[in-house]
Amino acid sequence: MNAVKTGSHAASTLEKTPVGDLVETKGHSSGAEWLTRYSTSLMGVFGTPQRVLVRGAGCLVWDADGKEYLDLLGGIAVNALGHAHPFVTSVISSQLATLGHVSNFFTSPTQIALAEKLLALTHAPAGSKVFFTNSGTEANEAAFKLARRNGAGPDGTTGKRTKIIALEGAFHGRTMGALALTAKEAYRAPFEPLPGGVVHIPFGDVAALEAAIDETVAAVFLEPIQGEAGVRPLPPGYLKAAREATTKAGALLILDEVQTGIGRTGKWLATEDAGIVPDAITLAKGLGGGFPIGALLTFGERTSSLLSAGQHGTTFGGNPVATAAALATLHAIESQRVLENVAVVGDYLRTGLAAVDGVTEVRGVGLLIGFDLDADVAPAVVIAGLDAGFIVNSPGPRTIRLAPPLVLTKDQAGTFLAALPAILQTAKDAQ
Ligand SMILES: *Cc1c(COP(=O)(O)O)cnc(C)c1O
Repeated sequence: MNAVKTGSHAASTLEKTPVGDLVETKGHSSGAEWLTRYSTSLMGVFGTPQRVLVRGAGCLVWDADGKEYLDLLGGIAVNALGHAHPFVTSVISSQLATLGHVSNFFTSPTQIALAEKLLALTHAPAGSKVFFTNSGTEANEAAFKLARRNGAGPDGTTGKRTKIIALEGAFHGRTMGALALTAKEAYRAPFEPLPGGVVHIPFGDVAALEAAIDETVAAVFLEPIQGEAGVRPLPPGYLKAAREATTKAGALLILDEVQTGIGRTGKWLATEDAGIVPDAITLAKGLGGGFPIGALLTFGERTSSLLSAGQHGTTFGGNPVATAAALATLHAIESQRVLENVAVVGDYLRTGLAAVDGVTEVRGVGLLIGFDLDADVAPAVVIAGLDAGFIVNSPGPRTIRLAPPLVLTKDQAGTFLAALPAILQTAKDAQ
């Protein structure tokens, strides 16, 4: 009775416990032993993980064998503020201890505050709206459904706009709709038929876009910088041309800023200075500072009303804890002047990388960086990097990607630049 009145949990036999006590170590806990257990219990879609990570702080992480790493990948552009950020941790904990989940029959203040904050940060025009998801692929699924409603009749049927345009090299996620937008044959082919109507056109080619677009096109999906394709920015002027062509044909222009958004390029959005207003933007990776959350932002009244009541939904999307995590992340980025750090450290890294023997090209903006090597040794560089205490990624056979926490310091970046020549040599010797 008392517990009902105060809202507290009834007396329980559960004591406060560090999470480690819930993890059965079976008397062993080396990385190799964990990986044996992994291979017998986890689905093999990711291959064998490179290390078993147990702890992080800022830009550093430690593995099960106690080895320390400088994290230059940040969970693939996710850990915007590094690991175990005290402010984000405290906000998440306080929300979880207050109200952890409500269904979408209800809302909560953090959900509303985050939607308002995102619309303000992206300078969204009047009538713009937000739909929260749990991941990038779900944000793009929502955008795909939005596109299907462009030109559709109120009777529930879809209209004459049967086509969606995406670019060669595009990566938009792994669920069926987002996979249909993704270009890579190895990801697509095993799962065909995919949702229909998606046409992939050559990357960065304005003439190809203008030739492909007509009144049968519902939407054009673009990444401002193709991350999975090796950090390839769209050429200058492309977004403007895409905006003109889509407006003329009545197609939606949908920007996938899942990887490039939330300060990754030193701006809230990579497309902030492109001089265009898109119809929709998708966000995810850095938004929750490591906590899973994504969002579809629809710009303007017309686009925002394409999906009507009952036409889309999600159980977890917009959850109080996830939206609190994002509010905390955005606040920390703003109040700690993180965007300025991204510009300074990003430039420092790019300049330093360009001067390293064996690096043939450096691309990217802010702290989303890709660089090419003079030999197909990128996977070996990842391994040599780990052995030297650095986490990097190889999206291609001779391409390395860096997407470190946005709080990476110049000194930390400098340790990588100093170590890189030896890492490249080790990788080449291993070939
Ligand atoms: C990572 C990524 C996605 C997919 O996000 P998930 O959270 O992995 O589903 C979609 N688009 C881009 C540009 C991405 O980088």
